[in-house]
Amino acid sequence: MLDVSLIILCAGNSSRFELQAKKQWLRSNNSPLWLLLSNRLKKIASFCEIIITCHKDEISYMRNFSDDFLFIKGGKTRQESIINALKNINSKYVMITDVARVCVPKKIILSLLQNKEEAHCIVPVLQVNDTVIYENNTINRNKTKLIQTPQLSKTSILKKALNTNIQYTDDSSAIKANGGLIKYIQGSQKSNKLTYKKDLFFLNCIKKPSKNLFTGMGYDIHAFEENKKMFLGGVHIKCEFGFKAHSDGDVLIHSLIDALLGAIGAGDIGEFFPDTQEKYKNISSKLLLEYIVNFIHNVAYEIVNIDISIIAQKPKINPYKNEIKSSLSKILNINKQFINIKATTSEKLGFIGRSEGIAVQSIALLKYYNWKKL
Ligand code: ZN
Repeated sequence: MLDVSLIILCAGNSSRFELQAKKQWLRSNNSPLWLLLSNRLKKIASFCEIIITCHKDEISYMRNFSDDFLFIKGGKTRQESIINALKNINSKYVMITDVARVCVPKKIILSLLQNKEEAHCIVPVLQVNDTVIYENNTINRNKTKLIQTPQLSKTSILKKALNTNIQYTDDSSAIKANGGLIKYIQGSQKSNKLTYKKDLFFLNCIKKPSKNLFTGMGYDIHAFEENKKMFLGGVHIKCEFGFKAHSDGDVLIHSLIDALLGAIGAGDIGEFFPDTQEKYKNISSKLLLEYIVNFIHNVAYEIVNIDISIIAQKPKINPYKNEIKSSLSKILNINKQFINIKATTSEKLGFIGRSEGIAVQSIALLKYYNWKKL
């Protein structure tokens, strides 16, 4: 095993990416790009550990995908994420790469490893072939380089170099500013960065997303409580009761959230919004659903359709069906034709029949976000 750890930076917000999905979550067949890259690099060299920095909202979800990596919380900046990751590293060398370099060629990784003892930081670079103007002056392009990642650094030197308030855009700049020795090796156009959506079409290691469909089911139940307003699907229902709950008790939305989370393999509503947390007390469940829909879009899924059964002896649901569909259509950002609401009673049997509460069952169908169709 090598005395080299690998850090893959995946905590970014894809702010320049212009798509509803984050780039690290786009699928190549069934793999999110961050997993495609991690598995590719794992096969190329026997790193002593592979650390993946994640956005704080996505870390639990990412852990569902593999047991082979250490997932840690990233920071607000690239540098903060690296510092967090370095705290877990004791190996002599560390290779750091951005998830955006998803197709970095094998020969670059091997070349970095072969050169690891040659300097404090080994850096792939590209020569500049075009004329370069800096503040109205043409500069000597032969003295200009384009810096790429991954870069391989001596861990102790990098830790020291990043112990500063100055923000560096790459590891070699930090090490250089600290008087460290840099060695440049030949980079590759193939490890170009995925920054804008047009870049997707130049990266040859990415396949189109699979056409698989994903179902999830949800179930929730709440007892009635007096002196509370009743909400179902975000719609105010005229009734002498509301629901007993930590939140506003919108049992329909809770059941739907569980169906959506089921389809993407993300656990259940309690893992996202624990009812022990004060900030969720009396919260409108519409806000919870909005958060989940945004999460689903970020991780590169789209909702195909949903079907909901409300089991209630009381109140009458039929007069509200259309309003509930319109409300959900807005939050889910799908057309009303893909939303179905069914209402039934329990034939006066059991607690529902005695009008003590309501149960709701939901099913959702989802597919991967098809970036190939852009
Ligand atoms: Zn609930």
